[in-house]
Amino acid sequence: MAIVIRGGSVFTGDGKVLDPAVVIIEGDRIAKIGLPDMAFPRDAEVIDIAGRMLLPGFVDCHLHILIDGSPNPMAAVENNSMEMTLLLATAHARDTLMAGVTTARDMGGTGRAEIAIRDAINAGVIQGPRLLVSGQQICMTGGQGWQFGREADGPDEVRKAAREQIKAGCDIVKLMATGGIMTPGVEPGAAQLTEAELRAGVEEAHRANRKCASHAQGTLGILNSLNAGVDSIEHGFFLNEACIARMLENDVPLIPTLGPGDMLEKAAGLGVPEFIIEKSRQVRGPHIESLAMAKQANVLIGMGADCGTPLLSHGSNLIELVSLVENGFTPEEALVVGTLNGAIILGLDDRLGSIEEGKLADLVVAVGNPLDDISLLTHPENITHVLQGGRVVKAP
Ligand SMILES: [Zn+2]
Repeated sequence: MAIVIRGGSVFTGDGKVLDPAVVIIEGDRIAKIGLPDMAFPRDAEVIDIAGRMLLPGFVDCHLHILIDGSPNPMAAVENNSMEMTLLLATAHARDTLMAGVTTARDMGGTGRAEIAIRDAINAGVIQGPRLLVSGQQICMTGGQGWQFGREADGPDEVRKAAREQIKAGCDIVKLMATGGIMTPGVEPGAAQLTEAELRAGVEEAHRANRKCASHAQGTLGILNSLNAGVDSIEHGFFLNEACIARMLENDVPLIPTLGPGDMLEKAAGLGVPEFIIEKSRQVRGPHIESLAMAKQANVLIGMGADCGTPLLSHGSNLIELVSLVENGFTPEEALVVGTLNGAIILGLDDRLGSIEEGKLADLVVAVGNPLDDISLLTHPENITHVLQGGRVVKAP
């Protein structure tokens, strides 16, 4: 049976608003977009969205489905059994979907549990976003993320580590090019995997037709990543002109992950480990400047709130859009970042990311007009409907 969504405005994903418009869904696809007087099948299910906005399902390019967004999420993982971690992650996946995120990319887990979550979603056993997973993040011995990661030293070992992730069934490969915030004793600005190590990882990913993402915060690690041929820069706290030029030259997007920095601004006394708050404070200024440079230069930017990290519970993904607007993006631009850009970055824009005839019907209905107040989107109760592949997975 066809579904007809009518009575409200439509944000198409590429920055256009159709108001009013009617969208007809047949099977898993968007069949037609037209004016209110467009004919539709008599037996269609009609969803009236007067006073609301229809948007493409959101695409989160960077989250961690296994960690819970508590003040000290790594301690929570250590205290829970793997069975409990996995059960909690099923709830994280559902919360993500109910918040309007219909596609997401997990950027580092155990290499088994998040793959099981992805497969259970695909099998229809649990609810969650279409999930792409990186498996274990590949880091140097003692490097950023080693608690969850696959430690590897030297190009041959990184190559093997990448092959292991691909063998396990990951969709992308994630390499750790610099230190970061969440691991004690490493510095965000310091380079970690070398250019040669990164290149080996990228080669293996590309040979297996996977994209390769780089956790890259300091300038040298960002440049090493770009020289090695990575497909996205995650975080990018210390970008300079040379980084921007290389990103433009090679069409490498930035996922700035503003969420953690914003949360940690207000984290005092909440139980977040002090080293995390302190490092976050140190990178804050350069991070904001780097984002402004990237935006100014028209680097492709994707949404990723890094949900799962301290104080970022799953389902709060869209606070990243508010952070973008607070840092110079118009609401229209932020919504494009959160939808079409994400689909482009994940290589899924032929079927997702915008409301276009022929694309998959991953759609979200939001109360009010997010173009007037983007923060409306951050309250899951304001997302009244979520459709995934033409199926209504959330309705009042
Ligand atoms: Zn992350």
